[in-house]
Amino acid sequence: MTSDLHHEITQEVKRRRNFAIISHPDAGKTTLTEKLLLYGGAIHEAGAVKARRAQRQATSDWMEMEQQRGISITSTVLQFEYQGYQINLLDTPGHQDFSEDTYRTLAAADNAVMLVDAAKGLEPQTRKLFEVCQLRGLPIFTFINKLDRPGREPLELIDEIEQELGLIPYPVNWPLGMGDRFRGVYDRLRQNFHFFERTTHGSRAAAETVIPLGDPAIDPYIEPYRLEYNQLKDELELLDGVGAELDLDLVHQGKMTPVFFGSAMTNFGVRLFLEHFLTYALPPVAYKSDRGAIDPTQEHFTGFVFKLQANMDPKHRDRVAFVRVCSGKFEKDMTVSHARTGKTIRLSRPQKLFAQGRESLETAYAGDVIGLNNPGMFAIGDTLYVGPKLEYEGIPCFSPELFAYLRNPNPSKFKSFQKGVNELREEGAVQIMYSTDESKREPILAAVGQLQFEVVQFRLLHEYGVETRLDPLPYTVARWVLDGWEALAAIGRIFNAVTVKDSWGRPVLLFKNEWNLQQTMADHPKLRLSAIAPLA
Ligand code: GDP
Repeated sequence: MTSDLHHEITQEVKRRRNFAIISHPDAGKTTLTEKLLLYGGAIHEAGAVKARRAQRQATSDWMEMEQQRGISITSTVLQFEYQGYQINLLDTPGHQDFSEDTYRTLAAADNAVMLVDAAKGLEPQTRKLFEVCQLRGLPIFTFINKLDRPGREPLELIDEIEQELGLIPYPVNWPLGMGDRFRGVYDRLRQNFHFFERTTHGSRAAAETVIPLGDPAIDPYIEPYRLEYNQLKDELELLDGVGAELDLDLVHQGKMTPVFFGSAMTNFGVRLFLEHFLTYALPPVAYKSDRGAIDPTQEHFTGFVFKLQANMDPKHRDRVAFVRVCSGKFEKDMTVSHARTGKTIRLSRPQKLFAQGRESLETAYAGDVIGLNNPGMFAIGDTLYVGPKLEYEGIPCFSPELFAYLRNPNPSKFKSFQKGVNELREEGAVQIMYSTDESKREPILAAVGQLQFEVVQFRLLHEYGVETRLDPLPYTVARWVLDGWEALAAIGRIFNAVTVKDSWGRPVLLFKNEWNLQQTMADHPKLRLSAIAPLA
């Protein structure tokens, strides 16, 4: 490779930061995203993301459904610059009914920001997404939000993160007051105070005054907040005494989390968070492949498909494959190889996505996400490469929690039904399982969110012309049996579980609840069960 190209790729990789926000609905992800974009200059007034959403045309049939319900089904990639950094925010669907896309998006992220509502602490969806981050060993940065409202004690929240997630918290800043009395934060690393001024809904960058510790200029700010200031001093002493030191290696291994307090809505502490985050977050990492970990600065372009989305454009009924770039330089019109089929493809119509608006893209580097028009050949986990052949580790299927028989009451539609189910499975819209009873041929839909069922039914009707019926099954937990059918047969009947097979014919146990699973594990301690499907 020429040294110019090498220099270019190295510089571009070095300045990239890619992350996803994990949170429970209502913690403030949309609000925080807007504020981050505001600093990036990508939008000029917060509120634009929502406004853009509201204005959006019905871009497809099932996006209509998304609009009717006012929720976001699909994830998008938001790209913006700040202080020379190129930031890629992988936006995950925020609604309660989240889907496997949320999990898959984390497969394309280098860092995660865990957003926590100060009044609620850790919530179920955050915990689930946290587990996925841990599987990948992602660095996790915590933002504790809504400090402008009465919430739980900061020490208690820190303790919860440590006790329940097993992460070592390192508070980077500490709040001065809370709720109506939230006045600012103390930055422990830079040893200065940030006092904020409230602006109307924080629609612009918040006015803030930064004063070093020990500077008498803090006095007029602190005087009316004596009580809060004393509490802060006591708590800082405690943190300095018994708390951990910031250890970047541990942060990068996903074992220690830098914690920030703030309020996305009033825009307190968002800039501080962004700047520290950019300093400490990992630049694009080396992804594992069958040729070992691939250096993101290597010359050859490589990447993998982490998400497919159908029919974004009603005129074309097309599909878009989202590719995480893992190395090299991507250029428009480039010819690449498709590892699974061995075919070569010219990538002539790449797109990068900013919110829902498409812009065409000329170049991309590791850590970026590109959208490719998909002629139907891409599947989740597929590798694209230039140069020596390689395949990235696939994206695992995560444990579904909802199950239902999908029935097609109209025999004349059998073929369309089968085709639709197969294509939606390949696309990763839902997992499909089958009964071990040969007389029950109908597919069992297995999903992590209710919305996935609705999307499948809606699309079968609108794209394949098949009206279907769902018969829900009373299970909530699935475990793949790693030892295979023989081990299962040797055990004989397992009480409180039903055995089904996945699309690859591998055995999966379904349980009504976690308690039944625990019981089975106690009864059969040798049985190796996994919440994640072995890669096919
Ligand atoms: P999402 O579901 O996580 O995307 O949450 P949103 O960003 O839509 O926020 C949910 C609600 O919390 C909205 O009513 C926001 O205005 C509110 N909210 C978000 N951040 C803050 C904050 O820092 N303080 C307060 N008081 N409310 C907030």
